[in-house]
Formats: sequence, C-alpha cells, structure tokens
Amino acid sequence: MTEFRPRTEEEAASIIGDHATRGAALAIVGGNTRSGFGNAVASEAVLSSRGLTGIVAYNPGEMVMTVRAGTPAAEIEAALAEAGQMMAFEPMDHRPLMTTEGEPTIGGIFAANVSGPRRFVSGAARDSLLGVRFVNGRGEIVKAGGRVMKNVTGLDLVKLMAGSHGTLGLLTEVTFRVPPRPKTEETIVVSGLNDAEAANAMAAAMALPLEVSGAAHLPLTVAWSFIDGTMPPGEATVLRIEGLPGSVTVRAEKLAAAMGRLGSVRRLEEDVSRRLWREIRNVKPYADGTMRPIWRVSVAPSIGHQLVAALRLEEGVDAYYDWQGGLVWMRMEAEPEGDMLRRYIHALGGGHATLMRATPAHRAMTAAFQPQPEAVALLSARVKEKFDPAGIFNPGKMG
Ligand SMILES: Cc1cc2nc3c(=O)[nH]c(=O)nc-3n(C[C@H](O)[C@H](O)[C@H](O)COP(=O)(O)OP(=O)(O)OC[C@H]3O[C@@H](n4cnc5c(N)ncnc54)[C@H](O)[C@@H]3O)c2cc1C
Repeated sequence: MTEFRPRTEEEAASIIGDHATRGAALAIVGGNTRSGFGNAVASEAVLSSRGLTGIVAYNPGEMVMTVRAGTPAAEIEAALAEAGQMMAFEPMDHRPLMTTEGEPTIGGIFAANVSGPRRFVSGAARDSLLGVRFVNGRGEIVKAGGRVMKNVTGLDLVKLMAGSHGTLGLLTEVTFRVPPRPKTEETIVVSGLNDAEAANAMAAAMALPLEVSGAAHLPLTVAWSFIDGTMPPGEATVLRIEGLPGSVTVRAEKLAAAMGRLGSVRRLEEDVSRRLWREIRNVKPYADGTMRPIWRVSVAPSIGHQLVAALRLEEGVDAYYDWQGGLVWMRMEAEPEGDMLRRYIHALGGGHATLMRATPAHRAMTAAFQPQPEAVALLSARVKEKFDPAGIFNPGKMG
C-alpha cells in the first residue's frame, strides 16, 4: 500500500486535498506502535507523520515545549530529562502489549490521549496539551487559537484532537506543558490485601495529605511478574510518593506507618520504584506475545473490583488495577464478550471499556470503543462532518 510521508504541512495539505477531492480514504499513522487500536480501517493509502519531526521551541524556563507531531517520544523524553522536566501524563509504550514495532511519536500519544499512572492526580495527556496545528479533511492547515475553522467556532479544537485517534485531522505540531520531574520517588508495598480491601486502602492513602502520585493493586496472578519477581510475596497494593528527597522520606515514613495497620509493609527505593511504575504503565503482565483479548476499563475507583468480581461469575478474567482502582486492565480467557462487559459496567454506574488487543476475527465482532449515548454520537458525527466532510480520515476506526 502506498505510504505518504510529507516533510511539510503544505505537502500534507496537498496530499489530503487530493484525496478529499477523490473521496479516497487515508489511514493516519505516526510510528504505528498503536496500530491495533480501534476497529479495522479500510483505506487506499497510509499518511504518516514521520516526515514531520523536530523540536520547534523549547525553553525549559517557560515549562512548555512545541514539537512536530512525528518526533519520536524517546527524543522528547531525552531532551526533557536533560532539563529535569517530564511529560506529567507518563505516556504508556504500547509496543510490548500490542506486539508492534517502530518508534512511538508524540502525535500518536496525543491522538490517542495516552495517559499513565499519574493521570488520576495530574490529568490526562489532553490536560497537558496547550495548542495544536493540524490539517483538516478539506486540506486546510489549522492552528488552534489562531485560524478558526468555519462552523466550529466555540469548540475547543485542542481538546477535540486529543483522543480523536486520527479521525478529525493529521496533527502536524503540538504544544504542551512540561513540569519539573520529581527528584526522587519511593513506593510503599502493602502485602496481602484482597481486591476490596485494596480499594479501601488506596482510598485511605489518597485521603492522607501525603500527595500519593500512584496507587495500584496487583493481585497474586500478576504481582510475581513485576520487577523480576522480587515483589514481596502475596498480593501487592503499591503507593508512590514523589518529590524532593527529604520530603519523600518523611512522607513515605508516614504512609508506611498508616498502611502498616492494614498489612505488612515494605518500601521500594527509587530505581526499583521507577521500574515498577514503568511496568505497571506498560501492562507488563499481559505483554505475553499472545493475542488473548485485553480490555482497558475506566470506572469510578470504588467500582473496579466489583466489576471484576461480577464478571468472574460468568467467565475467566484476570485483572489488575491502576488509578486507585478506577483503571482496570483485564485479560479474558475466552473471546471478548464486549456486550456482557459493557452491560455490567452500565449496571455498576457507567464507564468506558476499550478493546485493546484481540485477533482480527474477534475485532470484527466487537466494537473497540465504548458506544456513545445517542446525543453524544450525534454531536460526534456533526463534528466529524465539519472536520472531514469527505470522510477520508481513518474511516471506521472509532465506529
Ligand atoms: C478518578 C476517576 C473517577 C471516575 N468516575 C467515574 C464515574 O463515576 N462514572 C463514570 O462513568 N466514569 C468514571 N470515570 C471514568 C472517566 O470519567 C471517563 O469515562 C474515562 O476516563 C474516559 O475519559 P477520557 O475520554 O478522558 O479517556 P480516554 O482514555 O481518552 O478515552 C477512553 C476511551 O475512549 C476512547 N475515546 C476517546 N475519545 C473518544 C471519542 N471522541 N469518541 C469515542 N471514543 C473515544 C479512547 O480512545 C479510549 O479508548 C472515572 C475516572 C477516574 C480517573
């Protein structure tokens, strides 16, 4: 299949304009490391952002970075680390889970709103995004905050583009906040809690004035697979503290004392702690090289374990919890029962279930994204029509 790799926005605009005139579909890709996301896309050609690279503007004093969309995430992380800054939203690397290759790009991260363990306190990728430039489906170059697209005045283009999965336009440049990187971190491991007890323990930890920036529960089935099997025996409820060294020590001591009433407690030092949270973020237990179905479910934090318990009455489910219990990573033993899973989520108060990994045959049977309520779906369709009237961007990907 033809792959276009424009080196300028103008070149991208001309390719898109040509395809729009002919009504020919384009699959939008960055590094293609998240290529299994969503529903299958039927396209005539591929349009890649990988020719649009480079840091456009970065003054650490302003804590803002502007970068072309095809720039590898690794290059950005290296530049930020050198200046002692970071992407607060800790984007996950999907390659191990999705068994993809290539280099993750910053455009792909924002297009999929990829947000890691710190999300429940610092917000999603979307919340760090300050500005975008993109080419819409008419072949027009649009700058959010600058040129306003006809008929979409009043919509927050920046927020719309984050999480739109390449269905509204080709991102060409992004500007985002880059706060200081914590000098150090520690993790408290509370051992031996079941899922419900862990949900209570995490809620109690979050209620303390200790600025916990990571709260996950790793049941027995997964705990052993982290940090080379060196986690203390039993279920592990893990709580992260970050900041300046003195402050981290004091807060970690207080947290350990409070959690010691619930179970036995161990502390993980900086290096091990960093590795653990990278593995939690990248879904290490289920990065098993298989295509067994993986669901990413987002619900209220107190609901995650109830959902898993209810599902287990019906089928084999392995799961672990991030975001204080609100993000559930699930591996199903059998084929993905999307309707059943979504019925349970609805019954427990609502949330999102996204099918992350599955065989092509299973994908064809299951909507990858959480179906939208009718009113929201109508609004989405109208937005799509304004951005991409010929329907050429990633057709079918989001349903
Ligand atoms: C602390 C906390 C409490 C919560 N409490 C509740 C609650 O009480 N009730 C509840 O229902 N939910 C709750 N949630 C879930 C939350 O409100 C959102 O439903 C969820 O995080 C998805 O939001 P998002 O679009 O930002 O996430 P994302 O990660 O961007 O999206 C979730 C999924 O939807 C897809 N998606 C993103 N944009 C679109 C789009 N435009 N069209 C179609 N699909 C799209 C994404 O690709 C992704 O797969 C809670 C979450 C947290 C962290």
